[in-house]
Amino acid sequence: MAGISLPGFAPLSVIDAVIRQTNAHTEATSTEELVIEAREHVVSKGDSIFGIAQDYKISPETILWANDQLDDNPDMISLGVKLTIPPTTGIYYKWQEGDTLQSVADRYHAKVDDIVAWPGNKIDLSDPKIETGTYIMIPDGWREFVQWVVPTIPRGPAGVLKTTLGPGACDTNEGGYGGSGWFVWPADNHFISGNDYWSGHLAIDIAAGEGANIYAADSGVVVFAGWSYGGYGNMVMIDHANGYQTVYAHLSRIVATCGQSVASGQRIGFSGNTGNSFGAHLHFEVRYLGGWISPWTVLP
Ligand SMILES: [Zn+2]
Repeated sequence: MAGISLPGFAPLSVIDAVIRQTNAHTEATSTEELVIEAREHVVSKGDSIFGIAQDYKISPETILWANDQLDDNPDMISLGVKLTIPPTTGIYYKWQEGDTLQSVADRYHAKVDDIVAWPGNKIDLSDPKIETGTYIMIPDGWREFVQWVVPTIPRGPAGVLKTTLGPGACDTNEGGYGGSGWFVWPADNHFISGNDYWSGHLAIDIAAGEGANIYAADSGVVVFAGWSYGGYGNMVMIDHANGYQTVYAHLSRIVATCGQSVASGQRIGFSGNTGNSFGAHLHFEVRYLGGWISPWTVLP
């Protein structure tokens, strides 16, 4: 059997490719029907990217990557919006002029063989030309997120820029309380209502109705209090002076003020639906040494 040459990568035996394609299909159908085509999901009340992804048995990142209108921000969904749900975890890619299987595979950290073997791609091995504008599934492909996040603001004399972060940025926030390193829940409910912590959502969304009390998760000093850009809405950031910072977003009202020392469990504001938010809840982030960590690792 002579090898054939696909654009951009080494000759591949037709028989070899066909066998792998058959195997891939057999593996999946042994448990349940293999989904090979993208589907459409209309966002309804109570939906989150995380929950939708679980329903369709794909990663939540896959949905963000396939829906440009979300700007890599899972909070950007709204009622009635139509989402593209790729058939499997990875990148659902619209073929561009000049693409080759190798260049696309490289860009998304994937393997040419996996793209060729995905049955939904219907790549004709005798004439492996992909029309510009065709959607191709890149199984297990991935890319970086470009989501805007509020940078971690350390306690210190240097004011942060209200022009880039929002009018809630504090001018100065020196001294004051430090944290104990022991956290309390920042809301009366101790469960999530929407997005859990994952790479596209570096927070947990805690169930908290409009106007519910929001508390400092540990003692510290308020380094941001007010409106923030980038979808966080009314936001409080507390520096705990022990490497930890916590963020409380989408608040309806803030009672803490810039530079204030707050005690663990002290009320700092009320839950709401400001910024990019799909129903009232508390978007709660925990940062450690400037990076994001899962709030589940510190909450009791
Ligand atoms: Zn959130």
